[in-house]
Amino acid sequence: MRSVPEYFGCMVFDDKAMKSRLPKETYKAMKKTIQDGKRLDIALANIVANAMKDWAVENGATHYTHWFQPMTGITAEKHDSFISPSGEGSVIMEFSGKELVKGESDASSFPSGGIRSTFEARGYTAWDPTSYAFIKEDVLCIPTVFCSYGGEALDMKTPLLRSMEAISKQAKRILSLFGQNDITSVKTTVGAEQEYFLVDADMYAKRKDLIFTGRTLFGAKPPKTQELDDHYFGSIKSRVAAYMKDLDEELWKLGILAKTEHNEAAPAQHELAPIFTTTNIATDHNQLTMEIMQKVAKKHNMICLLHEKPFEGVNGSGKHNNWSITTNKGANLLEPGETPYDNAQFLLFLCAVIKAVDDYQDLLRVSVASAGNDHRLGAGEAPPAVISMFLGDELDEILESIVNDSAYDAKEKVQLRVGVHVLPRFAKDATDRNRTSPFAFTGNKFEFRMLGSAKSIASANIVLNTAVAESLKSYADRLENVDNFEDALHELIKKTIKDHKRIIFNGNGYDDEWIKEAERRGLYNLPTTPDCLPYMISEKNVKLFEEHKVFTREELEARHEIYFEGYCKTLNIEALTVLDMVSKNILPAISKYVGKLCKTAERKRIFAADCSYEEDIIKELSSLSAFIYRKTNELEKVLSSIKSAADTVEEANMFRDTIIPLMNEIRKAVDEAESDMSSEYWPYPSYADLLFGIR
Ligand code: ADP
Ligand code: MG
Repeated sequence: MRSVPEYFGCMVFDDKAMKSRLPKETYKAMKKTIQDGKRLDIALANIVANAMKDWAVENGATHYTHWFQPMTGITAEKHDSFISPSGEGSVIMEFSGKELVKGESDASSFPSGGIRSTFEARGYTAWDPTSYAFIKEDVLCIPTVFCSYGGEALDMKTPLLRSMEAISKQAKRILSLFGQNDITSVKTTVGAEQEYFLVDADMYAKRKDLIFTGRTLFGAKPPKTQELDDHYFGSIKSRVAAYMKDLDEELWKLGILAKTEHNEAAPAQHELAPIFTTTNIATDHNQLTMEIMQKVAKKHNMICLLHEKPFEGVNGSGKHNNWSITTNKGANLLEPGETPYDNAQFLLFLCAVIKAVDDYQDLLRVSVASAGNDHRLGAGEAPPAVISMFLGDELDEILESIVNDSAYDAKEKVQLRVGVHVLPRFAKDATDRNRTSPFAFTGNKFEFRMLGSAKSIASANIVLNTAVAESLKSYADRLENVDNFEDALHELIKKTIKDHKRIIFNGNGYDDEWIKEAERRGLYNLPTTPDCLPYMISEKNVKLFEEHKVFTREELEARHEIYFEGYCKTLNIEALTVLDMVSKNILPAISKYVGKLCKTAERKRIFAADCSYEEDIIKELSSLSAFIYRKTNELEKVLSSIKSAADTVEEANMFRDTIIPLMNEIRKAVDEAESDMSSEYWPYPSYADLLFGIR
């Protein structure tokens, strides 16, 4: 058995593999491409492709694919084999630079939001050399971006890379103001903590709701859920431990820095946290992690649920996006420095984030919006749907003193002057205590906690990168031509804090009082997906993305349409599943059980025995089933009337305002019926089975 360092990254054509397999000059050019996004010419691409193919074939690969991230939220691949006829019925394994760099595929079945007219259904995939190629199930996967014939982005990766370029460009301008002229690139870094549930595969197979929608649409509350907090960080059950071990191994082979695995708050809920890396790689790795999590679970006869809210009444699953900015020399720009000058630079970058989060709260909310995540945000288990920032008392005090020109250190009465005074080091745990904030400073990075577990982390990082790029741009524009840099810097920081103070909130984000306070402060409160999606294409936001060349107006409008459509489709499937389960299983089961009770009561009466139990339950279940029947008829009617909605926006509003409340009413009645019935007659595994079924 090989040791972890021996097999770590063995399925990745990474720096080590490139160094050992590429001619020195090619390797150098490749490095340059990866670091600074320089183009690679076709002659070099041919050499790289050939080396990549040899490496892949040696490691068992027979096929290659351009691996991309369309707007479906998952990844896509189309396999081509390396074989090429070499005469007389034999073949050789071939892979050209052209095949590496560019692929063409029929894009018509991926969501495009109307960008691509049907006669021009071609889509192109283009190699993203900043993310390493890897082997998955004997296929060489080449990370690519996915565009239409006209060059419009049809994926998550293209805008992400564009946003990274935008922030790099603006951050470099700021850094040169601080005398750092030798920085060639600035990258954002991300560590995405991923939550998930594990359920037994045999039980899963009996739940149509889990199969079709990823979440339970019904399920009475079991006697125990998470109230004892005994699962959180609790000892890991042997079946789960075996799974985690396998998972780690698979992820490590793919060079994914899986670091911590532990139980989460809800029963059957777990978390995996990797060590951070650059945002584009972190995004690829998170997509891969989700895929591998599901595959490995199947091997252990379990199903990994990535839905944001698989179970009512217990915590849902999220993703914490830990985010920072790093120079190509490895300096973390959100790390407070040792000298006053370094600290001034830190404060400016910090302010850039504060300004960005306040100015683009609406976009950040949009970036985490989905039908699934609507169940979590504001439900007292995840941050509210209102964006605010937590900085911690120490940092808050420092900012206060800058704004008010007041004493910072109560004892020494120092008036904090940017660029003159040294800031204290912030204890990491001092800033980490607040777990209820959507956007918290945690010592040398920000943790954005509103992301749902199922969605790609790309959207959130596209917004973050672009919004911060915009703050930095406005700062650079202001500071580049001033006479007294230090004065101007002090004023700029002061002004930012004054203007954007409202976004900072250090209290309990789960408190209802906060929502009222937030409204007084003029912060957005956008509880549902249809509430927030329209902001995606407001003039302010179109301007931001166009300015930084991250999205064109057309691309944004297309995405706006895709997200609305996605919301409607998800709810449509959920509603149809409710109808199916109720009419095919639930009502027949209730009827059968009532029939059995009637028979029992009939016989008991012969003996003049007390039938009050049977009679009460018969009455109770009969009125519940009549109610369920009536409501499902109503649901069916409303669902077909939605087809006449003028557009997807109206449709989405109808789903939210009429379908969801109806589904909730039906669920409540069904759950009551489940509690009244013999478990022998209930057609589905119960919550207790699902949540506590794995030992
Ligand atoms: P915890 O959330 O338990 O306090 P940490 O704060 O150490 O744990 O890390 C949480 C996540 O943040 C990890 O994925 C870690 O790799 C990531 N992280 C740490 N530093 C950075 C950084 N500079 N940029 C992005 N992510 C980071
Ligand atoms: Mg964390």
